[in-house]
Order: sequence, then structure tokens, then C-alpha cells
Amino acid sequence: MFIGHFAVGFAAKKFAPRASLLPLLAAPLFCDILWPIFLILGWEHVRIVPGFTRFNSYDLYDFPWSHSLLMCVVWATVFSAIYYASARYRPGAIAIWIGVLSHWVLDWITHVPDMPLYPGGGPRLGLSLWNHVAATMAVEILMLLAGVYLYASATRSRDRIGKYAFYAYVLVLLVLFISDRFSGQPAPASASVAAHDIFLPSVIAEVVLLVWPWWFDRHRIERAT
Ligand SMILES: [Zn+2]
Repeated sequence: MFIGHFAVGFAAKKFAPRASLLPLLAAPLFCDILWPIFLILGWEHVRIVPGFTRFNSYDLYDFPWSHSLLMCVVWATVFSAIYYASARYRPGAIAIWIGVLSHWVLDWITHVPDMPLYPGGGPRLGLSLWNHVAATMAVEILMLLAGVYLYASATRSRDRIGKYAFYAYVLVLLVLFISDRFSGQPAPASASVAAHDIFLPSVIAEVVLLVWPWWFDRHRIERAT
């Protein structure tokens, strides 16, 4: 899943309006933030198999440290505890815990059966939504729009940045998601090449896609109810 994870972060603002959008978005993205780092460290592995699913050509045969259910619970608890220690804001800490864990649930719905329960073997689960292109598009886009709606109903802009940088961000997410679908499949590559090909673009994308919402969120305030 891609923009569906952002939807969870946006929606969390409704539940924890005093938390910055940055940790609220970083939480549901957390497993995918760890993934390229663990790939480049050689702790996890991926193969590029063109047409592996109808939506995505990654064969995610080994990623238990970033994406097993057990490790998601661990990451959720660590992230949430660090947040609570620094911000002392209970709704934010709860939203972050649920947010990190939501990543596993949403990936489980979209992935082919490759989602581990714990590192070191065991069953691997997945409902394979990625094999249904139209359904994947519909689910993710509807989720994002719902999340953005909740965010917009919990906050209002203080100035033009709070308004237009927010709109532009949502538009860019949609364009990235849709254009990704129509871009050519990457050429077959070995696992080690795949790690290097994935690392830098992923890190750059993550930094941009987290700093940008941090910026416009500072130009929006909680809507009085
Ligand atoms: Zn993921």
C-alpha cells in the first residue's frame, strides 16, 4: 500500500489535533521508512520480478525486521514511547501506536502472502489486493480522500501556505500514486542491485514527503468545535 498509509496519518489528526502531522504521518509510514535502510544494510532482501503482482514488481521474500507483525508491535511501542516521553500528549502517543501497527494490516490486505508474523520463518500472509489493479486504485484513493477530509475538518489554515501547500501535497500524492501505476516496469535486477536502486530514491522521497507536511501543518491550527 502507498497513499493509504498517508490516509491513516492525516486521519489521526482528528483524534490527536495537538500532535504535529510529522509524527502522525511518520507512524503509518514507519515500516517503509525502515525498509530501505535494512535493505542497504543487508538485513533484508528484495528481488525485482517484472509482473510479480499486477500492481508491483517487488518480490518481498525477506523483510521480517521492518514488516513482521511482531516487529511492527515493537516499532509501534518504541516510537509511541519516545513520542510520549518528549511530547507528553497521550492522544498523540495512542495515534502513533495504532498508526505504526496499521501499516502491517494495510500491507496484509494489499500484498501477496509475503507478510511475516515474526522474524525467522513462520507463516506469511496477504490478501493480494495488488492483483486487482482497479480495486487497489479505488481503495487507496478513497482512503486518502477520507483521511484528508478528516484532517481538513480538524484543522484550518492560518495563511496561504497552510492552504495551498496542503492542497499541492495531496495532489502530488495522487499524481505519484497514479503515475507509478503507468510507469514502465523496472528491468530485472539482482537483489544487491535492487537494494542500491531502491535506497536513495526511497530516502529522498520519504524526506520530502515528511518535511513538506510538517511545514504546511505549522501553518494550520486546530479548528474550534
Ligand atoms: Zn510496507
